Amino acid sequence: MINRLTSLYKLQLIDDQLDELEELRGDLPLAVQNLENRMNDISRTITEKQTEQQESIEKRDKNEKEVDRILENQKKFKAQLFSVRNNKEYDALTKEIDHSDEVVKRLSMENDALADLSKKLSLEIEDITPLLNDLQKELEDKKADLEQIVKTHEKEEVKLRDERKRIEETVKKGDYSVYMRIRKAKKGKGVVTIKRSACSGCQNIVPSQRQLEIRRNNKLFNCEYCGRILVSSEIAEAAEA
Ligand SMILES: [Zn+2]
Repeated sequence: MINRLTSLYKLQLIDDQLDELEELRGDLPLAVQNLENRMNDISRTITEKQTEQQESIEKRDKNEKEVDRILENQKKFKAQLFSVRNNKEYDALTKEIDHSDEVVKRLSMENDALADLSKKLSLEIEDITPLLNDLQKELEDKKADLEQIVKTHEKEEVKLRDERKRIEETVKKGDYSVYMRIRKAKKGKGVVTIKRSACSGCQNIVPSQRQLEIRRNNKLFNCEYCGRILVSSEIAEAAEA
C-alpha cells in the first residue's frame, strides 16, 4: 500500500514539473489556436465568394449563348416576313420576333446584374485578402515564439515525460484514472499532503481521527471537501527522495 501511495504522489510531482513547463508557454498556444481559427474563417469566406463569382461567370456565359441562339432564330423569322402568304402568318412571326426581343432584353439585364455582382465580389475578395496575409504574419511570429520556448526546455521535457511514463506503469490502473479525473477537475492537483492539519489542496482542516488513519498509509483517502487524494507527509518524503 505504501508503494501504491508513493507512486501516486510521485506522479503528482512529475506532473507539477510538467505543468510548470506548460505555464512558461503562457497564452501563446491559445493565441496560435485563435489565429488559426480566424484564418480558417476568412479563408472559408474568400472561397465562398470565389465560388459565387465563378457561378455568376458561368451563368453569364450561358445567358450569352442563349442570346446568340435567340438572335439567330430571330434572323430567320425576320427573313420569313418577306414571304408570308397571309396576315395570320405575318402576325405569328411578328409575335415570335417581339417575344425573342423581350427574352434578349431580360437576359441582358440579368447579365448586367451578374457583372455588377462579380465586380462587387472581386472588390470584397481584394479587401479581405490583405487581412489574411497580416494574420499569417502574426501567426508565424507567435509560432516562432512558442517554438523557441518549447525548444529551450525540450530536453527537460523529454526527460520528465520519460520519467512520467515509467512512474505511470507503477501506478494502479484504477488509481491512475481517479487521479487523472481529480487532476483535471482541480486544475492540476490530484494528490496532496496534509500541512498544519489541513488539506494542502483546499486548506480545510482534516479531522484528527482522519489524520491518524491517513498516517497509517494503508488506505486511499480523499479530502471530504475537495475530493483530492490525501497522503501523509511520510509518503510525500518517500516520493520526493
Ligand atoms: Zn481538500
